[in-house]
Order: sequence, then C-alpha cells, then structure tokens
Amino acid sequence: MKASLATAIGEKFSLHDVVIDDPVGREVLVDVKASGLCHSDLHLIDHDFGMPLPAVGGHEISGVVKSVGPGVTSMSVGDRVVACLITYCGACAECLSGRTTLCSNPSAVARKEGEKPRVSFSDGTEIAQSVSVGGFAEQVLVHENQLAVVNDEIPFPQAALLGCSVVTGAGAAINTAHVRPGETVAVIGTGGIGLNAISGARLCGAKNVIAIDILDSKLEAAKKFGATDVINSASTDPVEAVQELTGGVDHAFEAIGLDVTQRQVQDMTRPGGTAYLIGIAPPGSTTPFDSSLGDLFAQKRLHAVLMGSSNVKRDIALYADLYVQGRFELDHLVTQEISINEINEGYEQLLKGEVIRSVITSF
Ligand SMILES: [Zn+2]
Ligand SMILES: [Zn+2]
Repeated sequence: MKASLATAIGEKFSLHDVVIDDPVGREVLVDVKASGLCHSDLHLIDHDFGMPLPAVGGHEISGVVKSVGPGVTSMSVGDRVVACLITYCGACAECLSGRTTLCSNPSAVARKEGEKPRVSFSDGTEIAQSVSVGGFAEQVLVHENQLAVVNDEIPFPQAALLGCSVVTGAGAAINTAHVRPGETVAVIGTGGIGLNAISGARLCGAKNVIAIDILDSKLEAAKKFGATDVINSASTDPVEAVQELTGGVDHAFEAIGLDVTQRQVQDMTRPGGTAYLIGIAPPGSTTPFDSSLGDLFAQKRLHAVLMGSSNVKRDIALYADLYVQGRFELDHLVTQEISINEINEGYEQLLKGEVIRSVITSF
C-alpha cells in the first residue's frame, strides 16, 4: 500500500510502497477514507522528540473496518470508525476509573519486541507508526481500544478530525476544565485545537468565550465556533483586554506552545482561576510560572492537558452525534481536501495560517 513516511528529522514527508500486516488478537485493519494534517506531525519531524524513524506520518483518520482480529468484540467489518493516538490498556486502575490518558500500561496495545511489525518495507524492515497510528496511508492497523465507532451520517473528512484536534480542544474544556454554565473562558491560538476548545466551552454554556490570535481571518473563523469576543494580539495586549472584558477569566487555554503565551494565560485568569497548557512546546522549553507573593495569594492553578483527558470510544462517538444534530461545528474546520501527494504543500499552507485543516481524501 501507499504511505507517506517521515524518514529523518528535518526532512519532508515522502511517499513509499509499504506492507501492512493482517490483524492479530484485538487489532483492526481500517481502510482509510480521510486523514487530517495535524500540526503535531510536523513538530515530530522538525524536532527530535525521540520518535523512532522511519515512521508512517499522520494520526487523524477516519475510515471503514476492513478486517478484525479474532479477539475483537467492539466493532465489525463495515463499521465507520475514527482512530485516536491515545493508547490505554483498559484494565489498570487509571483506565478503570475512566482516566485512560493516564493509563499505567499503554504499551499493552502494541505488538511486542520481536513480533512481526505492523508496517514494514518489502524486505521486512520495520516502519514505525507515528504516535501509534500512522495515518498518512491507505490502511491503518491498530488495537481496537484506539478506535471509536461513529454514526454513518458524519462525512469522513469531518470525522477524521474528531480523533485529535477535536478531542484535544473540546475535551480540554469539557473533561479537563469542566467548564460550568456562566463561567468565562479565553483561548489563545485559534488553529484546529483552539477552535475546538471554543466549541467545547460553548457546549458547556460558558458566558464569555474570548478568542485570541494574531490573524483576523482566524478570529473571524472563531466566531463560527462560538467565540463571543475576539482579540487580535498583534495590535492589542491580550492580558489587558481580557482583564477589561471580564476582570480575569475562570479558564484560559493556551493552544500554541510558546513561553510568552503560556505566561499570558496565567496572567489573564482571575484569582482562583486555571490556566491550561495544551500546545506542544519545543524540547527544552521552560514554562514561566511566577511564584511571587501576589500570584501565590491569587491561588491560580496551572494545568497540563493531554488529549483533552478524553475517553476515545465515548467522546468521539458523542461529538459525531452532536455534529449530526447540528450542535457541534466541524464543517468550517475542513478547509480543503487534498491528495496524499500534497502533504508537504499542505503543511506549508498550515504554517502560513492559510488553512485550518487540510484533509487527505485521495490516496
Ligand atoms: Zn490502563
Ligand atoms: Zn494531532
């Protein structure tokens, strides 16, 4: 099958012919119908986070179940599914309490050392799956825990985004922050994740949902997702503006991964409020935290967020149903549909802020 690989740090994605194995145990083989270009995949080849290479890039996919291993019980051939990079055993104390993103045995769903690789070159050399998915490919082979069955009405491109940017952004507001009706929210960075944090805050009934970015076009988009106020931080100090609008928000989300904005989310929360760090900072970054007396008295919290504290099967199916009911915005996330040959160009457009999401729909 065709797959686009990351072969070395700093190199662009390149198309290769690779071999994908049949499912064993509780694995599921998925025919990929749509695969989103998430910013994180670019991070993983721009900076050395220790990811094994070569690897099939991509991790935001939807598709149809092609075949299942003998141990699979939660889905059948022909089901419409969405994959997620959250790997969890389903049996440890954290998993059993619903906190699957904190699973103590996430490698339980991977193949073991010495076993045949899921993806390889024709000579048998292993190819890793980027963040346990490997979605820039015609097919994906993962453990059933990583897949959610969704309704058949949601289009594949919209469904693909549920697996990463939606669970990460919306989940941060819904599951991590537990935003309550009437509370106030600010979001810095209105890309794929920030827009979904806005959607999640709207769904929770937040009174003010303030979107902050440096591009007016992205701030216009944020209004479609439920932003009640927008601030262009290229021309306006976002901390002063948020303080003026609300006196400080209950929840401030950072969806970029920069020291300066990580500090701003702390400064724009009210006393007792919480700043949430969602954006991935480059290796070696140090998040500034002011522990001077004034900030200690304000009793603010700083909360790191992983994948919106999401539960793969429950949350992805829920967002798909809310979309069909017209209560959850996804259509404006999909800027364009592209071919698997156009991944590098798609990322260049993403970096320039020209697109929210490019989604591969032709392989
Ligand atoms: Zn577990
Ligand atoms: Zn992602």
